[in-house]
Amino acid sequence: MLPEPVHVIGGGLAGCEAAWQIAAAGVPVVLHEMRPRRTTPAHRTERLAELVCSNSFRSDDCNASAVGLLHEEMRRAHSIIMAQGDAHKLPAGGALAVDRESFSAAVTRAISDHPLIEVVREEIAGMPPGDWDSVIVATGPLTSPGLAEAIRELTGEDALAFFDAIAPIVHFDSIDMTVTWFQSRYDKPGPAGTGADYINCPMDRDRYAAFVAALISGDKAEFREWEKDTPYFEGCLPIEEMARRGPETLRHGPMKPVGLTNPHAPTTKPYAIVQLRQDNALGSLWNIVGFQTKLRHGEQVRIFRMIPGLERAEFARLGGLHRNTFLNSPKLLDPTLRLKADPRLRFAGQITGCEGYVESAAIGLLAGRFAAAERLGMRPSLPPATTALGALLAHITGGHVSDETARVRSFQPMNINFGLFPPAAVPTSEGKRIRGSEKAIAKRGALAARALADCDLWLEDGRRIAAE
Ligand SMILES: Cc1cc2nc3c(=O)[nH]c(=O)nc-3n(C[C@H](O)[C@H](O)[C@H](O)COP(=O)(O)OP(=O)(O)OC[C@H]3O[C@@H](n4cnc5c(N)ncnc54)[C@H](O)[C@@H]3O)c2cc1C
Repeated sequence: MLPEPVHVIGGGLAGCEAAWQIAAAGVPVVLHEMRPRRTTPAHRTERLAELVCSNSFRSDDCNASAVGLLHEEMRRAHSIIMAQGDAHKLPAGGALAVDRESFSAAVTRAISDHPLIEVVREEIAGMPPGDWDSVIVATGPLTSPGLAEAIRELTGEDALAFFDAIAPIVHFDSIDMTVTWFQSRYDKPGPAGTGADYINCPMDRDRYAAFVAALISGDKAEFREWEKDTPYFEGCLPIEEMARRGPETLRHGPMKPVGLTNPHAPTTKPYAIVQLRQDNALGSLWNIVGFQTKLRHGEQVRIFRMIPGLERAEFARLGGLHRNTFLNSPKLLDPTLRLKADPRLRFAGQITGCEGYVESAAIGLLAGRFAAAERLGMRPSLPPATTALGALLAHITGGHVSDETARVRSFQPMNINFGLFPPAAVPTSEGKRIRGSEKAIAKRGALAARALADCDLWLEDGRRIAAE
């Protein structure tokens, strides 16, 4: 007797991967995909796992890049998205780029031909029927309005954002602490702080003027046609738009220089101050407060490195503003991606607040494994936070440090990056400490080696639980 099916809503990157993993565990799946009956503003075909924009899965280097490491872990976990990505790759240097047509055609075929997967072409336009006791919602950043509204009602008014307002995130160890300092405005500890919760970057009048001029003249990305009428503004204006409104606007907004004293020059009052707030529980990532932006990525690096203390900043994520649909996952989901308010519903893919094709598929892979284990009466096995899969999951389900006072929700979509991993000891070279770029390479190598070893142990543990 086969167990009851798990229902997966959405046949994108996450939904296909989830369905594949569930079926691989011997559990039947019904995959509900609304295309071609109804489409999204970005999809063009009726194929499953359609890549809506670029055809790149980004770097494939599992020793030096966090997304390359995620590729490798997913391959080891028998990911359908990685298997077909590899089978349909194109020449692209160190990146894994795929032939989008043959890739999604092959995923569609593999999913449709699987004896345990039934594909139903229909929109689920509201809450799934009550007799579906295990559901994975993987409807992506462009979830259809009926379902989005139903999720919003279930989770609360502001729990499902329709725009992401992404401020850049900087690796802590690239910030120059000889010119910046820790302090909260007026030393206020707030509900969870110490009074020294922000990193402050001071600017004098000339630097401020040059910075504002650079923001105004910087090259910006345009909104897409279907994004233009999505309401979002005033609460989260792009930084360059604030700069454009007047030379003093930023100094009275996110860069106000009040309630703070620079210990490196206590008698000099800064003309403006940029603040960074801790973004993850590990303290390895810091976001630039209020700096959501439509500046192009290259421009962001150039202009934000004008900020004192950030001259050598390495960015874990650059800023952006896009139409998106994503949950406040750290608050709403449990560690196995179930909605705390209705645990029969699991979420996967970009709707959980990860960003990117590979990350969306990775969270689909985990949601699928958790749902299958649950259906088979087994304990879901969580990947350790030292793996790329585990680091991404931990960020979504709890690793992010929320700022409840922020006007814009502080949990924002995130690509995988080494800043999400717990630190690893950096190897020495013949007993000597290594420095600079050599140290960065060694650090990434150490994190990657630990991740792959721990991933193998986790997969082995999963096999052992299944065999018991
Ligand atoms: C315009 C745009 C461009 C992007 N470009 C890139 C890029 O270049 N590189 C990158 O890495 N990431 C990109 N992303 C981000 C993201 O990684 C992708 O959107 C990715 O496809 C997300 O995977 P997913 O499975 O969560 O959602 P999707 O791949 O979008 O899959 C969701 C599926 O659910 C279906 N669906 C929606 N609502 C319902 C419903 N109610 N009932 C049934 N089916 C439903 C949709 O038709 C779709 O097939 C982009 C996002 C957007 C919006």
